[in-house]
Amino acid sequence: TGPALFGDRANSKGWDLTVTADLEEIAQARAPHETLLFNARPVLAGPVAGGQRHEVRNPATGEVVGYVLPAAMPDVQTALTAATPWEAAPAQRAAVLRRAADLYEAEFGTIFALLAREAGKTQSDAVGELREAVDFLRYYADQGEAQTAPARGIFTCISPWNFPLAIFTGQIAAALAAGNAVLAKPAEQTGLIAGFAVDLLHKAGVPVTALQLLPGEGAVIGTALTSDPRVAGVCFTGSTTTALRIRRTMAAHLEPTAPLIAETGGLNAMVVDSTALPEQAVRDILASSFQSAGQRCSALRCLYVQDDVRDTILEMLYGAMDDLEAGNPWDLATDIGPVIDAKAQASIRDYIEAARAEGRVLKEGQVPSDGTFIAPTVIKVNSIADMPNEIFGPVLHVAPWKSGGLSRVLDEVNAMGYGLTFGLHSRIDDRVERVVSQICVGNTYVNRNQIGAVVGSQPFGGEGLSGTGPKAGGPDYIARFTRPAPPPLAG
Ligand code: GLU
Repeated sequence: TGPALFGDRANSKGWDLTVTADLEEIAQARAPHETLLFNARPVLAGPVAGGQRHEVRNPATGEVVGYVLPAAMPDVQTALTAATPWEAAPAQRAAVLRRAADLYEAEFGTIFALLAREAGKTQSDAVGELREAVDFLRYYADQGEAQTAPARGIFTCISPWNFPLAIFTGQIAAALAAGNAVLAKPAEQTGLIAGFAVDLLHKAGVPVTALQLLPGEGAVIGTALTSDPRVAGVCFTGSTTTALRIRRTMAAHLEPTAPLIAETGGLNAMVVDSTALPEQAVRDILASSFQSAGQRCSALRCLYVQDDVRDTILEMLYGAMDDLEAGNPWDLATDIGPVIDAKAQASIRDYIEAARAEGRVLKEGQVPSDGTFIAPTVIKVNSIADMPNEIFGPVLHVAPWKSGGLSRVLDEVNAMGYGLTFGLHSRIDDRVERVVSQICVGNTYVNRNQIGAVVGSQPFGGEGLSGTGPKAGGPDYIARFTRPAPPPLAG
């Protein structure tokens, strides 16, 4: 992905992991943070009560990475009482967010260390994630500077562990750029990264009354932050089930017009027809299903390959899976890191074992026996309809191409009700056009992988069970964080 432009501003340059000088720069900047212990705690414009401190362990090695003091219920009240929409002029807010972007880039050593050690992110994922976070800051700074509508008030931002920096930052940056006060509740698993990011945002000049951090459990802190009538809107990325629960909570307690901006799960498919370039298709299947250990909501879950090339493609895919290096994400050669924690590992494992008992496991890769690893796995299904909602790990399903052809396949995928990403490998132009117009998803990718949407050029978000829109990193996003202008008075 080259430097895409939004306005006249380029995306973050990032680091090129095929360039020795870049690798050395990363290794050197990261080194001092290899064994350092980190701490995070609630950051409030008032006294912190705090709950029971918990230990954070590296999912690949089990080593202690640091400690998080979660927020307690009194902290939610303190935060709500102190929260004040960010009064500064839009241009001044934008300048602060741009300064934060620069600070994020300058702190890349610490950030890469934390992403590897707390979240199990491989180095290439960490580079992508930092770039995306920086892009969000600069993009929403531009958008915020250009918009004139008033802020809504207090926004609760609840973010996931799979993009503990990028999505965490993107939600906050959009809400702040529009002038809201933010109460940020990061995922339980990645409180340290959130704590580090909030420090940088405050250093850049975001007032503490405009951005407070409340680490803690979704069921407790998340619920409290979505059920207080002082909250004017909620931004959430996570599971579809949780989004529905949040919507019910909001309906019972918040103003009826309070928006929920939710980015949720997917059941993403890819179609490879017999005109596709096999090497290209295999490379993109591999990245789409196994990069980030499959822990992206955009990841490929169900693959359809046209019958006449199916055996060739699958054979090449299995060969490529044998070459994937699974291991400690600190190691620059690692392709596949661990899944986030032992609970996730156990549930994905149970799922694979049930498929194995039915003779449906077609291929399994290799992973270390210690750490919370899941081997990249290919499982046979009769239809995408046989799949459970979303297996959030490196598990690819392969479904038969329907007799009745591509239309049947598209109907089958659309019928699932999710609509996040879709991949197509084909060199028939008419077919590409037809698929793009028939498939009901937020992001369709043709002849490439289906992950890693780039801020400003590929706005990201789904429809149906996959999210409410507007798309993150796109021109319509920030308007949702502002109050719509009242309708003109009838004369
Ligand atoms: N934006 C990410 C991508 O395009 C996925 C975000 C998510 O997993 O929540 O891969």
